Amino acid sequence: MHTSTVAGGDEFEPDLVRAHFEQYCRDEGVELEHFLRLGQMERPDSSSPRFSMSTFAMRTSSHRNGVSRLHGMVCRSMWAGLWPYLPYQEVPIRSITNGVHLTTWLNRDLARLYDDSLEPDWREHSVEAATWEPINGIPDGELIELRDRARRHLVEFVRARQRSAAQRRLAPAREIRDAGEVLDPKCLTIGYARRFATYKRGLLPFRDPERMRRILTNTEMPVQMVVAGKAHPRDQAGKELIRQIVAISRRLDVQNRIVFLEDYDLEVSQNMVQGIDLWLTLSRRGSDACGTSGIKAGINGALNLGVLDGWFDEGFELSGGWAIGDREPYPEDDDEAHSNSIYTLLETEIVPMFYRDRVEWIRRVRQTLKGVSPRFSIARALREYSSVYERANNSFSELMSDGCRTLRARVQRMMRCAQAWDRVRLLKVATPSDVMVGHSVKLRVTVDLAGLGPDDVRVEALLGRVSLTGELEETTALRLMPVEQADSAYAFETEVAPTQTGRLGYACRMVANIFSDPFEQPSGTPVKWGDAIPQG
Ligand SMILES: *Cc1c(COP(=O)(O)O)cnc(C)c1O
Repeated sequence: MHTSTVAGGDEFEPDLVRAHFEQYCRDEGVELEHFLRLGQMERPDSSSPRFSMSTFAMRTSSHRNGVSRLHGMVCRSMWAGLWPYLPYQEVPIRSITNGVHLTTWLNRDLARLYDDSLEPDWREHSVEAATWEPINGIPDGELIELRDRARRHLVEFVRARQRSAAQRRLAPAREIRDAGEVLDPKCLTIGYARRFATYKRGLLPFRDPERMRRILTNTEMPVQMVVAGKAHPRDQAGKELIRQIVAISRRLDVQNRIVFLEDYDLEVSQNMVQGIDLWLTLSRRGSDACGTSGIKAGINGALNLGVLDGWFDEGFELSGGWAIGDREPYPEDDDEAHSNSIYTLLETEIVPMFYRDRVEWIRRVRQTLKGVSPRFSIARALREYSSVYERANNSFSELMSDGCRTLRARVQRMMRCAQAWDRVRLLKVATPSDVMVGHSVKLRVTVDLAGLGPDDVRVEALLGRVSLTGELEETTALRLMPVEQADSAYAFETEVAPTQTGRLGYACRMVANIFSDPFEQPSGTPVKWGDAIPQG
């Protein structure tokens, strides 16, 4: 799932779906109205909700994931409606953070330096932190020179591109000459490149244009900016943003310090992420799924200055960079505070460090190379996807083996549970006198299975810390096993030694046993809860 809004995916009128899938459903023996309901989220205000591709995909896939840790959290609360009986932290959507293909995005000089300084097989071992340790031994001077050369390449690229753009639009000779003289190869270079969707907040650095002008034109410590973007042709707001940045740079008379590159593409991107000193990420927290351009910049030794959104929420501490704003889960409109934070960090810390303490700057460059490269390489992401595919494949083979024996058994169990579920009850939870860190206690739950077998139902305890509002957080689900039977009543037990500190509590539940991997728990699985029992 990519888009961070439920309505972000395609939606269609039910009649349109009926018209297109009638034949398919007939061929496959699927009831058309059932097919339709898989894509509909019940909404109180609508008797016939539209068919949402995202909802359909969430209900019909066996594994789901967000593309950064934060995006996984956003997805879990966004899709909690499909698993209404689970606390949102248990909604079965995991996180697999995106990564970039290192050798595609690495500056060639840096790759050569790695060939000289790291083990020869560093490319094959990019995921291990130890691969990158020898970066500590690369002399400051070599890294400073490498960064200077990369910035000079970027400046040359930008000048050539701006010059040929001016020639193409038949600009006056003077304008063509000026275009070839923009930027300064020695100047601290800030960059960002975006699809200029409004949520990416492309104008944030220009909220106070005068303050930005002072930062850019400081005679001792000048700053320059390269911005690239491409607005969706139908995104008027995005195109307006681009117009405004160009207009601001004209008005401030800093045209040679701010360059806007049109037609953001792979070539522009590659040159920018390799030559920029400071990469900006401006999206509002929780709105960008991952954002990979800051990663591309980070593996090339650019420092990141960014909102704690997407990858940077989990990469900030590893990156040697600076954070804008904090980890408040749902910030209000904080554009003002965020743009102030950008100015203040630039004025008091970042710009002076670049010009007066290059050794500290390079220490941070080493940190981003060592911290971002292993954690955010595509090899790590692929490893995580492979492990999920393997689990999905194993489940599938199990269901299908032996003439679909397990699958048939599961369907029968589902039907048995559906019939008996109104009558199954939690009878008794034997409360351990004290749940304490490190001490093993026995949990015993007695349930009336109303004729179901002990394999038809999973009896589980959700153990966690009790929050100030009385809810369980940082939970672990424990499965209890049947130990005794009297008529339709069964006792289930498990031993647990909590490792958390603080006020602990647990809640017990019965879940129809129609899945073996908790991440494969289908939307709509019958669940019955007992009351939460706070301890201590
Ligand atoms: C990396 C890249 C993107 C994606 O950037 P995000 O930071 O993930 O939004 C888009 N376009 C190009 C050309 C890129 O190289």
